[in-house]
Amino acid sequence: MRLLLVEDDRMIGEGLRAALRLEGFAVDWVRDVAAAQATLASERFDLVLLDLGLPPGGGAAATDPTADGLTVLRAMRARQDNTPVIVLTARDGAGERVKGLDSGADDYIVKPFELDELNARIRAVMRRHSGRGQALLSFGGVTLDPATRQVSLNGQPVVLSARELAVLEALLQRPGALLSRAQLEDRLYGWGEEIESNAVSVYIHQLRRKLGADFIQNVRGVGYYVGAAKTEGT
Ligand code: CA
Repeated sequence: MRLLLVEDDRMIGEGLRAALRLEGFAVDWVRDVAAAQATLASERFDLVLLDLGLPPGGGAAATDPTADGLTVLRAMRARQDNTPVIVLTARDGAGERVKGLDSGADDYIVKPFELDELNARIRAVMRRHSGRGQALLSFGGVTLDPATRQVSLNGQPVVLSARELAVLEALLQRPGALLSRAQLEDRLYGWGEEIESNAVSVYIHQLRRKLGADFIQNVRGVGYYVGAAKTEGT
């Protein structure tokens, strides 16, 4: 899962990015309104963690010195960008929370917070957003519970690393859909993280070893998918 973290506080940002990466998320981090707007206009994320108290950014070109996190959120919703947003705020007044929710936030969390609570809220928001009405991702005897991050094969638990889980989650979200190596790398790495050139192959290999050689199919040079093998050339 790819997250955009919008947070101007350096310590909080660095801490959150490191912690969420350990959870297996690919995390990109921007620190002001202008950078958030530019990033959201050009890239797709599974979830945005949005601080409300943010500098406008944009240097001398800043058009609105009063712009803050709510500006980012309202602009997203105005252009029908329905990416889930969890507002992070130090302002614990009820008024700020209401404004955030009224502006289209899916949830909020008041700083300081425990990482466990943030993770639980991320899972809850993703579950609601998936619109499946059920928490489990399942295909061909393999079941992944995003809430507990547990995987089973024919009812037997399977232990996966955070990154193996991230690859499997991406594939199970859309059975039958081809995901390219680059799309899978996107789910595994944030900006500035060094991408090991064969990482995706390694995780696919591990997943096949643990879940069965046929569980993940690949189309040479195109990508990977879970599902029945497609007949090439037809
Ligand atoms: Ca702030």
